[in-house]
Amino acid sequence: MQVSVPKQIVPLDSILPDEPLLMMGAGPVPVPARVAAANGIVINHLGDTMAQIIEQVKIMSRYVFQTQNGYILGVAGPGSAAMEMAVANLVVPGSKVLSICNGFFSHRLAEMALRLEADVVKLEVAQGFTADLDVVEQYLIQHRPQVMTIVQGETSNTVCNHNLAAITKLAKQYDCLVIVDAVCTLSTMPLDMDEWGIDAVITGGQKGLSCIPGISLVGFSEQAWQLIQSRTDQLRHWCLDAKLAEQFWYKKSYHYTAPVSGILAIHEAMRLIINETLPVRFDRHLRCSQALQAGIEALGLQLFVKPHNRLNSVVGIEVPDGIDAKAVLKYMSSRYRVEISGSFGPNIVRIGQMGEQCRAHNLFRTLHALGASFISMGCKLDLPAGVAALESTLDRYEFPPEQHLSAVNAIK
Ligand SMILES: *Cc1c(COP(=O)(O)O)cnc(C)c1O
Repeated sequence: MQVSVPKQIVPLDSILPDEPLLMMGAGPVPVPARVAAANGIVINHLGDTMAQIIEQVKIMSRYVFQTQNGYILGVAGPGSAAMEMAVANLVVPGSKVLSICNGFFSHRLAEMALRLEADVVKLEVAQGFTADLDVVEQYLIQHRPQVMTIVQGETSNTVCNHNLAAITKLAKQYDCLVIVDAVCTLSTMPLDMDEWGIDAVITGGQKGLSCIPGISLVGFSEQAWQLIQSRTDQLRHWCLDAKLAEQFWYKKSYHYTAPVSGILAIHEAMRLIINETLPVRFDRHLRCSQALQAGIEALGLQLFVKPHNRLNSVVGIEVPDGIDAKAVLKYMSSRYRVEISGSFGPNIVRIGQMGEQCRAHNLFRTLHALGASFISMGCKLDLPAGVAALESTLDRYEFPPEQHLSAVNAIK
């Protein structure tokens, strides 16, 4: 025994704040109490109880992904593990991949395909813009890729590919499988896996689903599943091999010890989604995000992305010249106990609008903290005007419950 007992370790209680900070950044996001409680439970990963839970997770996932017959697999790992699972199983080494690159996370998908020795063509979209349908078509014609990768929402610079449905349908016309990263957007805005012809949808726990980090899901289309089953080459990733994961997710047997607590947590997160229903949840997200955006602009700050290309799930705010973004974030968290995100890339700060972040009381607290913190750094902002715009926009969207119901029925 050469290493002695460490003396400097203090209990968690003396590290964590007495009251949790309000997590209003680009993820992880606050989790509902039921999700937190489920995450505290450990059960046998192979028993009947687990089998029943897995069945329900698959059924609920098909609703959230909007797929009748898609193959749902869970992953013990971050959203990036789900990205890598989709890429590793659908990209055959040496094949051609078209990666639509809007920012940091879409480049990560391209990087993963490159590491699998795919022939990767990147379509670099200008900062702040949605991918252009005509340009995508030119690339499809010129390069004839077997697989396309794309993000629905690019969390890093708050751009949204609002024309995703048109892009995925186009790719189908050119016999190209489509992998969509919906980590921040799933259940915050429409995504229709079957209808749009998506072959792999990726999501992580800690963003749109309002669950914990470290548990993720991938949904594969029937066509994608056929490709997976027909591959004769050995996959480079053992943990992420869909055929091995099928053992646990469809055959009640062992692949690796599943992250049982995380699966229980995601079960509860999805149960809350099905109770709320997708249309009502999309409304809540749109209403809250638009009210927040109106409030930020009325404060006197600028949003980073033009409305046409803007992501609602994560809102990017330009940092005025001469202001130190890191100092603003630090002040917000120490004085107001609200955490938002900085950025890697453009000079912006980001406020998440995913899951539990989209609650009016969280918005008032966050907008006030944001405005007051910028003002304390010397910015000239109109805090009362910001809060008033937040309130009036929220009210404008407030419609009675019957209307929510008719929205639900219209979708059925
Ligand atoms: C956060 C995020 C990821 C990566 O998720 P991790 O859990 O951090 O690995 C991928 N894509 C998008 C769009 C994201 O927002």
